[in-house]
Amino acid sequence: MTAIPEDQEKNYEIFLDCLSTALIEKISQPQAKPKRRTKPKSKKPTSTPPQTKSANPDPETEADTDLTSADDLADFAGYIATTTFHSLPSDLKTLDYYLWTRSPSLQTTYTLPFTGTSIPPLPTLDPAIADSLSTYSITREPTQGINEFLAPILTHYLSLITKPPPAPRATLKEATGCEICERNYIPLSYHHLIPRFVHSKAVKRGWHKEEDLQNVAWLCGACHRFVHRFAGHEELARRYYTVELLMEDEGVRRWAEWVGRLRWKGR
Ligand SMILES: [Zn+2]
Ligand SMILES: [Zn+2]
Repeated sequence: MTAIPEDQEKNYEIFLDCLSTALIEKISQPQAKPKRRTKPKSKKPTSTPPQTKSANPDPETEADTDLTSADDLADFAGYIATTTFHSLPSDLKTLDYYLWTRSPSLQTTYTLPFTGTSIPPLPTLDPAIADSLSTYSITREPTQGINEFLAPILTHYLSLITKPPPAPRATLKEATGCEICERNYIPLSYHHLIPRFVHSKAVKRGWHKEEDLQNVAWLCGACHRFVHRFAGHEELARRYYTVELLMEDEGVRRWAEWVGRLRWKGR
């Protein structure tokens, strides 16, 4: 596998995070809470690289392929992300907010949100990727193919890389790692602990003072999605308006422990 060139590393990290967020959501559904695996299932030890690393996944193993082990999932996400990232159109590999705002032509080429039929063409993508995704039942042909899988990931990715830098107020509390799972090498985004959607209500009803409305937590993509699945805007504003309050919940702690074990290769 060719390494990611230095000028693409930042975007790759964001892409990997978007992709693993999608994988985590796929495998943690429909059950609300992620499964915890205390011992390896069957004879396959957790340290074994996922079968999909080979070009021809062995159909024999399909019955017991699952990605609930953190190691397997991290390997799998890294493999899918690196291969897919290499086959992206080159402008998408280095794009940032400044390039984006200066290129009206890019903005017409890439109209968000992408759908399965409007994603950027990936002619060089190794067909083994589609096979791997379907082996793990991440995709289900014919309706949920690889394009349908990649569309929301690429939409999420593009919206993150073209996002304006955060307001100075929000960066005051910038953390060195995700404040929930504590992973410190992945891209973080800020989460308004009192969601903006309920700001005026929160002040009117006296839940919070005006000056607390901009309190943010720095979270990785997976934890950010998790928090919004965990509770609605109003509940977040009333019961979970600090990281400490969130971490008091057992479900959040269990999530943090599980997702915190996902470490990409070489970290
Ligand atoms: Zn996190
Ligand atoms: Zn948020």
